Amino acid sequence: MSPSSPAARVVQKKNMKYLSTRGNSPAADFRDVVLEGLAPDRGLYIPERIPDVASELAAWTAHSYSELAFEIMRRFCDLPADALRDLIARAYSTFDHPDIAPVKRVGDRWILELFHGPTLAFKDLALQFLGRLFNTLLEETGEQLNILVATSGDTGSAAIHGVRGCPNIRIFVMHPRGRISPLQERQMTSVLDPNVFNLAIEGSFDDCQRILKTLLGDLELKRALRLGAMNSVNWARVLAQIVYYFSSALHVMRATGADRVRFAVPTGNFGDVFAGYMAARMGLPIERLVLATNANDILARFFNTGEYRLGRVIPTLSPSMDIQVASNFERYLFYRLGENPARVREALEAFDREGRWMSPDHAHDPLWAAGHADDDRTCAVIREIWERHGYLLDPHTAVGVAVAQRLDSSDAPLICLATAHPAKFPEAIARAIGRDDLARHERLDALRDAPTRSERLPADVRRVRDYLERHIRP
Ligand SMILES: *Cc1c(COP(=O)(O)O)cnc(C)c1O
Repeated sequence: MSPSSPAARVVQKKNMKYLSTRGNSPAADFRDVVLEGLAPDRGLYIPERIPDVASELAAWTAHSYSELAFEIMRRFCDLPADALRDLIARAYSTFDHPDIAPVKRVGDRWILELFHGPTLAFKDLALQFLGRLFNTLLEETGEQLNILVATSGDTGSAAIHGVRGCPNIRIFVMHPRGRISPLQERQMTSVLDPNVFNLAIEGSFDDCQRILKTLLGDLELKRALRLGAMNSVNWARVLAQIVYYFSSALHVMRATGADRVRFAVPTGNFGDVFAGYMAARMGLPIERLVLATNANDILARFFNTGEYRLGRVIPTLSPSMDIQVASNFERYLFYRLGENPARVREALEAFDREGRWMSPDHAHDPLWAAGHADDDRTCAVIREIWERHGYLLDPHTAVGVAVAQRLDSSDAPLICLATAHPAKFPEAIARAIGRDDLARHERLDALRDAPTRSERLPADVRRVRDYLERHIRP
């Protein structure tokens, strides 16, 4: 069987359609949703219905990660079964742990390690899959795709490692120059494959995201340059992330005999925790989603007060969460506002106009608990868990652990999502524990002397567009 033969049958079944959160785009197929990222009306794609899998859970408890991924993903996409299985197998073959996303007991909580992929952060779970998915869909028609990414750190290197060397894809990654950790920067700029372009933007992550949204929102340009997105708005990323909520919950329920679990999720763009929300709506017994932010706490404030109010981006020790406008939040708003796109548009317009929006029907939803942890508290938790349990948390993970510890107590086991390997953030670990020899990983050590390549550009849509045109048009 030739490697591309499953792809030739990609569009064949009757299948799940996707709708835009803003309601002004036609229903779309999985293929278009994946390749386009944003809907034509600039809304985010959501599935037309959410499958209920509660009755399957008992049968899934012994599934491997890949089997579980297959069972979940096939309900949302129309790839033939063998093509989907093959994609999943290849995507997770790059992980260095046989369980892909192992769960470890640390004191009276469980740590879900999402950092066993090539870039040592949780975004690999989604992007190793998405890169190969793009490739499969493009091979089918021989098309080219130019992926545009805005990153506050981990997305960029995970996206680059998802598509490097892929002949049908170029990738352009914008990062805020000097505002991501030096190691994260090197993980991106040391990839020298000719299809990889690193753009160091003179501005904040929100500037990068604004440029991305403007360019991808220009439909003519998007078509002419064959632009696509890999950012957390891409539905296939959410889809891939749903899987580890199931795998970890099933594991912990089996190990403890509990009939429900809680999750603590460090949050930036609301992509990871939105996948948890989907898992809950699919019937996974989640008692609570503890949403944890660093000092950039717009989301925590929203869940506690109903007010969504823009603040200033503050640099913290957990830079991948230094975000104010969370791009996936719109998906949650859609459900929160009764799946009514007119109300979503109204809310977003008010927010754009005034920099704040008040939810008209704020009532506390017991599924959610939310809070924030500042840098001091984050360091204190890293130190405490290290001293008590000999387990090293990265600063993002520590934000989740800290918020859950302070906020939420219940008999249901607590699963804390560990979103990065601590070696990615050695400065934070040194500040927390006072030693700089603890947070190491051989793959990162090897990068120290690697040659790098990047292009410096102002935070200006036109300049970025010119750069793309020069490098895409023959
Ligand atoms: C991206 C990232 C997060 C936040 O995930 P979102 O989906 O943006 O909420 C948390 N921790 C790390 C290490 C990340 O890279």
